[in-house]
Amino acid sequence: MTPDIPWESPAPEAADAPQLNAAGLSKAQLAEHLKTLGEPSFRATQVFEGLYKHRWTHWEAFTNLPKTLRERLHVDVALAWPDITESLASEDGSTKHAFRLADGQLVEGVHMPYAGRTTLCLSSQVGCAMGCTFCATGQMGIVRNLTAAEIVGQVMAMLLAHQHPEGVPINLVFMGMGEPMHNLAHVMAAFALLTDAGGLAIPPRRITVSTCGLVSGIEKLAAFPKRPRLALSLNGTTNEYRSRIMPVNRVWNLEALAKTLMAFPLEHNERITLEYVLLKGVTDSLEDARRLSTFARKFPSKVNLIPFNAHEGAGFEEPGEARIQEFCKFLIDRDITVSVRRSRGQDVAGACGQLVREGRKQQEA
Ligand code: SAH
Ligand code: SF4
Repeated sequence: MTPDIPWESPAPEAADAPQLNAAGLSKAQLAEHLKTLGEPSFRATQVFEGLYKHRWTHWEAFTNLPKTLRERLHVDVALAWPDITESLASEDGSTKHAFRLADGQLVEGVHMPYAGRTTLCLSSQVGCAMGCTFCATGQMGIVRNLTAAEIVGQVMAMLLAHQHPEGVPINLVFMGMGEPMHNLAHVMAAFALLTDAGGLAIPPRRITVSTCGLVSGIEKLAAFPKRPRLALSLNGTTNEYRSRIMPVNRVWNLEALAKTLMAFPLEHNERITLEYVLLKGVTDSLEDARRLSTFARKFPSKVNLIPFNAHEGAGFEEPGEARIQEFCKFLIDRDITVSVRRSRGQDVAGACGQLVREGRKQQEA
């Protein structure tokens, strides 16, 4: 393994905020602070419930706490989810939101309502270190990791902005900006908060992390007793081509990936999603489809075809509709479960790989 791979070093972390912010703290962290105020630990459970079950956004609303404590918290502790600075509604019903973090950095998330459920697409980092050549986020480089609070904050800010009705299931996909396996500790801390029975209680099977194939991270994820579902961005079927568009393949190639995924401990009926971006003339041949079907048969899987979403300066094109259908049919004929992801939010650049912010430029300014 080459020692000078940028993504082998951890991404920079957020600077400490000047004031303690209850939004996104774990119950243990809440209890720790409440203890300094002389409060018993069950108060942490009450605060947690107020934040996630009742979705209260200011301390006065916390009627499950004594008035004196509310007043104390109002002075002492902030309660601030990330600000939404911009929202672009797409014709297809999805909305792309830009979130401003405490240090001024911006990340994006997408709210996608479907019949009977809502899917939220989340960012895990500001930028991304992986440098995939077809991806707008990859082109901006890495700025920093998101904290667990900032990840949970995207969920809460979107639920509040859309007045998400109670009882409608929420699906979460880490398919926004960043590589979740490059920030696994914070992603898993956010996962613990989001699945907590005393809060949003999102079932783990409704949460999916998508990775470009950081084997070290996938192996760590496999060891968690409770974990989200896994999606792999395959996007190439030969090492030569995959390495060209996804530099991570030079470290962990297709064989290493297959070996890791075959050993990944799946639950009953669980499948690994293989995302496959169709790039005209690069990844869309029927030979690719054949190799993709061979790869997909190595472990329980389903394939998600994503026609390339164009963005400025990408240098790739989307294959035509006929080729997309042909590619899809080739897989179906070989008994592969396959869907074509018609990216939502394309008209507002909220689709996969179009989530890019001026973070880098802002930093340099
Ligand atoms: N870093 C993670 C998750 C974020 S990218 C990963 O790579 O899996 C989410 C998905 O968007 C990935 O499957 C990626 O291959 C895809 N993607 C990136 N840029 C794209 C583009 N321009 N068009 C279509 N899909 C793209
Ligand atoms: Fe990062 Fe994923 Fe984009 Fe690759 S596709 S640069 S891993 S966000």
